[in-house]
Formats: sequence, C-alpha cells, structure tokens
Amino acid sequence: MIRDPYGRPIKSARISITNKCNMNCIYCHREGLDKEEIEMTPEEIERIVRVLARFGISKIKITGGEPLVREDIVEIVRRIRSIEGIEEISMVTNGYYLEEYAKPLKNAGLDRINVSLDTLDPNKYKMLTGCNNLEKVLRGIEEAYHAGLSPIKINVVVLKDINDDEIFKIIRKFSRRGFVIQLIELIDSNKEFFEKHHLDLNIIEEYLERISQRIIVRKMHARKRFYINGAEIETVKFIHNKNFCANCNRIRITPDGKFKPCLMRNDNLVDFLSYIRKGCDDKKLEELFLEAVKRREPFNK
Ligand code: SAM
Repeated sequence: MIRDPYGRPIKSARISITNKCNMNCIYCHREGLDKEEIEMTPEEIERIVRVLARFGISKIKITGGEPLVREDIVEIVRRIRSIEGIEEISMVTNGYYLEEYAKPLKNAGLDRINVSLDTLDPNKYKMLTGCNNLEKVLRGIEEAYHAGLSPIKINVVVLKDINDDEIFKIIRKFSRRGFVIQLIELIDSNKEFFEKHHLDLNIIEEYLERISQRIIVRKMHARKRFYINGAEIETVKFIHNKNFCANCNRIRITPDGKFKPCLMRNDNLVDFLSYIRKGCDDKKLEELFLEAVKRREPFNK
C-alpha cells in the first residue's frame, strides 16, 4: 500500500466525472471545479483506475457535477468493476435519475450510493436546488433500496435557519432499513451565505452524544457515528478539524483528468489526461500519480 509523505495510506479515489449538473444548489462548491467541458471517456477512466489499483487503491467513489447526467454512466461503472483489486464502488448523486438508473447501476457493479437531500419540504427543496424534484428524488431512493444498493447514505448539508429544524425529521424518515444519515458541515460557499447559514456541527454532536446508545469514531476523516434507536448518523466536519486531514486516505480526480491531492486546494493539481491523449505509457501515469501523492499534505495541521 502506498503512503504519502505524512504516512497516510492512500486507499480510495474520488473521481468527479463531469462538471455538468441538472440542479443548481445554492451552496454548491462544485467539486467539478472549473467550467471546462473536457471530460474523461469511459476508457480513460478505466485506464487511470487500473493504474491506481496497482498501488493498492481499492475503493472508488464516483461524483460530479452530477454523475447521472452522463449517458455512459453504466458503462463507466461496468469498466471500473472489471478491474482487479477494486473492492467497492460507490456514487454521490442528487438522486434525480436514480429511479431510472438504480437497477442498471447495481447490475453493472455499483455497491452503494450517497444521495444528497437537505430537506423534506418541497418549497425549501426548490429554493435550495432550483428544481421541483423532491418527489422524484424520494422515488429514486426507494428504487435504489429495492435494487439492493446498500448502505444508502443520505447526505444532509446542515444549514442554520434553513434545515436545522428538520434534522430529526430527516433522521426519523430514513433511519430504517440500514440507511445512514450524514450531517455535513457547510464549507466553501459564498461569504454572505456562509456567514448566515454555517452551523457549527459541534452543537449537534453534543446533542447526539447525549441521546445516543452507542458512538463509534470512524477512521476515515475521524467521523463520529451515532446510533440512536436503530438510526445511524454520521457527522462530517471539515473546518478546524485536524482529524479530518490526519486520517484522509483519499486522492481526488477532476473531470478534466487531473489528480487533486487535497479537497481544500486547487493549486497543486497534477494533470494526467493530456499525457494519456498524447499517447503516454502506463509508466508515465504511475509517475504522475506518485507526484500527486508526494504533493499531499494535511490542510488543517
Ligand atoms: N451532484 C451530486 C450530489 O448532489 O450529490 C454530487 C456532487 S455534490 C458537489 C457532492 C456532495 O457535496 C453533496 O452531498 C453536496 O451536498 C456536498 N456539498 C456541495 N457543496 C457543499 C458545501 N458548500 N458545503 C458542504 N457540502 C457541500
């Protein structure tokens, strides 16, 4: 297994496969980064994941933009599944197209999904995402459950004075059948929105600690998982969280084919797609990956 200069093993890759999205979330930090329309083909994605697998990376998370807007998404999953050493494939989606895609994705080899859903109120949903799709997303989540994608994680960005009053309603709705609720700290949105709506998750954690029957701390980003009457709730804190970085075992890939060593930085990316398109061999790709690993350093020290 490969380790970065800080001794952190790299076990997983988060691959953003498109900048495009069919929603327009008010706070979105656009993981896809810039607006360039360059996207890796399924063959290119497969090739780079094969290189990563040789270094012991066994978990792949597919994200965007919105990954399900790519018409070749099933082929992408199938190709990643075919790679020896890849043990788990997951996806982060807004859920809009899950109704159509859950079964084909499961059949292609997807193991599990995270669905982003910050509210159960249709008006707030429209205000947050720009779309009138709440019912369709809820049907998509049901379809994913019946397709056997498991566990299903519901990603909730906690927003002061928008959805903080709904957290327990969301937990109650999904805390059955092995769903996990991830409460995510707001980062990186525009300054005015952040100042108005950022909520310190410590406040929520203190409350959860009081009412939980059991708490475990996961190695990945030192996330706390709370067990309350059958519900599983995780908190994801980024800001001032040394543990987030200390246990980070993830390399990221941008849609236009660059390694991104740190979630919080865009100034140390390592391009590989232009080398693939110039016809480079795998040895060059391995060197580029090693360069990205070398550039990894904890953001919160
Ligand atoms: N389109 C997909 C979706 O909606 O899940 C995948 C991409 S989205 C950028 C991935 C995750 O990042 C979502 O769960 C979203 O809620 C979260 N996210 C986006 N902007 C964020 C922000 N400013 N702070 C915290 N989380 C954010």
